[in-house]
Amino acid sequence: MANTQENLMNKIVSLAKRRGFIFPGSEIYGGLAGTWDYGPLGVLLKRNIKNEFWRAMVEERDDTVGMDAAILMSPKVWEASGHTAAFTDPLVECKICHERVRADEQNEKEAHEEIHKKEKVASSWTEPRQFNLLVEAALGSVEGKKQTVYLRGEITQGVHVNFKNVLDSTWKKIPFGIVQVGKAFRNEITPGNFTFRSREFEQMELQYYVKPSEAESMKQLDYWKEERMNWYLRLGMRKENLRFREHENDEQAHYAKAAWDIEYSSPFGGWKECEGIHNRGDWDLTRHSQFSGVNLSYFDEETKERYIPWVIETSGGVDRAALFFLIDGYCEEPDKDGVRLVLKLHPRLAPYQAAIFPLLANRPELVDRARQIYTMMKSSCAICWDDIGNIGKRYRRQDEIGTPFCITVDFETLEDGTVTVRDRDTMQQERIKSTELEVYLRDKMR
Ligand code: ATP
Repeated sequence: MANTQENLMNKIVSLAKRRGFIFPGSEIYGGLAGTWDYGPLGVLLKRNIKNEFWRAMVEERDDTVGMDAAILMSPKVWEASGHTAAFTDPLVECKICHERVRADEQNEKEAHEEIHKKEKVASSWTEPRQFNLLVEAALGSVEGKKQTVYLRGEITQGVHVNFKNVLDSTWKKIPFGIVQVGKAFRNEITPGNFTFRSREFEQMELQYYVKPSEAESMKQLDYWKEERMNWYLRLGMRKENLRFREHENDEQAHYAKAAWDIEYSSPFGGWKECEGIHNRGDWDLTRHSQFSGVNLSYFDEETKERYIPWVIETSGGVDRAALFFLIDGYCEEPDKDGVRLVLKLHPRLAPYQAAIFPLLANRPELVDRARQIYTMMKSSCAICWDDIGNIGKRYRRQDEIGTPFCITVDFETLEDGTVTVRDRDTMQQERIKSTELEVYLRDKMR
């Protein structure tokens, strides 16, 4: 079992590299641990995930707005948020080779012990110690006078420090939320499992401000748990691979009143966090009020009450979502040529929604007609041109990268204007009018 799972991960890493989804960061210089570069297809997948998030969390709602804060912030932000003091992971160090791993990573520890066992040495660990995860940077142009700042360890604080700005500029009423997507950086002690734990990654978050009440905040927490779980399900993630898990008391962040994770059943050690949904209470706005001296309370016009709102947060990783969608969609199916490798990504997430082929690349009349259709469709969907090799090979190539529909322009097209559309999952083909393609695809995308 473990072997098959490990195999699956190797296959996904290899597919990601081979077809241009994800490359190791700075690869030609030997790499930089914990960094990854998204290639031509990876950037499309990731952008689709972020677009779907934005659509569901901002565009389709009336009670949220979006924003985009700077990565570099005043160091006081991180004092106020507690990150300089408490953004730590407990770490143990191997007494033999001094390698450090997270104290809670049982698998990592066992794998490390195995290495020493083979060398016939019994390994032992130090007591857990705390390590700060904030990445430091130096800002300013004069040597010796540079200011130490941090690359944000989470995108959350950029929203809270703008609570008043957003309130004043939008006249939103509580309950309302602020959505943000952006990069975060952490000095992860043990980056690994492909992109799962990286040192630079992207987060997609909602900070939802509610009345300071236990009952109201818990109601909102339940609502957002369901909303976020349904988002993954709607985008095709398999139900049996997702679950909720409530944090144990000793796992909860310093500010959390309640904390749940949406977990994915991964091939690298079972259930892993994909997204966190937390009741942060009034921690953030109270602390920023105290540290900045700016009153971040809210005045409720209806009840004439003034209060510091509580916050329900949903915080997901874009890279983790991309990785789990890749894993979830990866299929090997027996077929007449042996095995068909197909990436069953939801049409809204697939890098290309469609590919178009002229049946024969050396027949100008077919190529010209296919080009016309390609140009027409380019404005309404991400479409890929492919005229290399025979049709069977082109289907295989598109299956591997998850393109849900392949359109072939053949001699019949020249006669009656119809094309063949082949479905990635069922491999069924149907003929439809080329003028109806856009509507056809729009229906399929719903
Ligand atoms: P973990 O326990 O796995 O380190 P966390 O509880 O520290 O995660 P949060 O601080 O709640 O994570 O961050 C919210 C989300 O950001 C996570 O659910 C995850 O999807 C993403 N994330 C956090 N750390 C990383 C990382 N090092 N690499 C990639 N994504 C990450």
